Amino acid sequence: MLEPSSDLNVEPYWLPFTPNRYFKRQPKIVVRAEGAYYEMADGKRLFDCLSGLWCCPLGHAHRGIADALARQVLELDYAPAFNIGHPKAFRLAERIAAMAPSGLTHVFFANSGSEAVDSALKIALAYHRYRGEATRTRFVGRERGYHGVGFGGMSVGGMPANRKMFSPLMLPGVDHLSDTRRGGRSFVRGQPQTGVELADELERIVALHDPSNIAAVIVEPVAGSAGVLVPPVGYLNRLREICTRYGILLIFDEVITGFGRLGTHFAAQRFGVTPDLITFAKAVTNGVVPMGGVIVRREIYDAFMTGGERAIELFHGYTYSGHPIAAAAGLAALDALVQPATLERVRLLEQVLENAVHSLVREGGVLDVRNIGLAAAVELEPDPGQPGLRAARVFDRGIAEGVLLRVTGDTVALAPPFISTDEEVRSMIEALRRAIRAAG
Ligand code: PLP
Repeated sequence: MLEPSSDLNVEPYWLPFTPNRYFKRQPKIVVRAEGAYYEMADGKRLFDCLSGLWCCPLGHAHRGIADALARQVLELDYAPAFNIGHPKAFRLAERIAAMAPSGLTHVFFANSGSEAVDSALKIALAYHRYRGEATRTRFVGRERGYHGVGFGGMSVGGMPANRKMFSPLMLPGVDHLSDTRRGGRSFVRGQPQTGVELADELERIVALHDPSNIAAVIVEPVAGSAGVLVPPVGYLNRLREICTRYGILLIFDEVITGFGRLGTHFAAQRFGVTPDLITFAKAVTNGVVPMGGVIVRREIYDAFMTGGERAIELFHGYTYSGHPIAAAAGLAALDALVQPATLERVRLLEQVLENAVHSLVREGGVLDVRNIGLAAAVELEPDPGQPGLRAARVFDRGIAEGVLLRVTGDTVALAPPFISTDEEVRSMIEALRRAIRAAG
């Protein structure tokens, strides 16, 4: 039964990353979702402009996933994650490794992007220790990077607001590269041609600390949460070269870019750069069940497989690592996500989105438009002294226009479902245009 929002007691629930008091004065409640649309309690339909939170590329109420989940609940609803296995976790690991760049062969499961990132950081530290390089404990992240909200991910991340309150307990020994937008041109379609030298900052950091102290560099290939910051041509290759030269692990956080968002299985393949570890989450189950994980190079896995055979190699894991329901959802989601036709569709829609979103260039108050794959961002000029307020008005106005937008700061991020039609993508941009104009 649909519950009208007016009947809800909205007080006890503390919403994440939300201005709770404002929200609770006029709650926005969705009650159903199907395909590329949410439905609100009053029956209003909203186009899902960010595929949930980047996690539902196949749209909602996907029949194949729903059926797989229903079967799995009755077949095997839970299996302990430690010392025992169940077939679907192995099958899913095999499928994910097969989609990954060659050389990345083993998958560790977690339940979210944040857990995936913290797992990757721990694997990197332990790997160096196993190889007798225990001094390699430092990490390098990037300004405006988002790697979730665990203490590890928050520390290597570069979102000032996320770090501010927790500053005293940030991981020690973390440096940050400049973000890839710094000093670049606005309104670039796809990858900027300039800015590759930003990667050379890594040389400076390595020289400062000495390579023997650095464990890993972690970056999003495309910084998503900060508003689709696209890497300059050659930038990721140069990070790769520097990491290889100094024995530093390179981690790509592909929580947003993984599973087709850029028209390839992983961003690593789109950019032709192979990292040592990839973190994933979100789209792996089409967002239906929480799941995350880390894909690692064979040499990394092998480095742990030493010592007594009865000894646990990695003292790390979660009650729900490789959960049967999540694994079933993952297998069903990958059935569709792995299809060449799906990736082909993303590539075609990329052009539609690029042309449509760049038509906003001349709208008043638009400072920048960026895009790559089926992802784009529109950066708005902030209201004087009140960052975020203008975009918040655009968000509210978007609902009136029939679109569920995602705003961070004064940037609107767009990542429609892969199942969107060309017309829906164009209509989404027109609705955004009207919302920007109406929000003033
Ligand atoms: N890493 C990246 C690149 C992300 O975009 C996100 C979430 O948006 C995370 C990590 C954290 O994921 P979660 O919210 O599932 O913990």
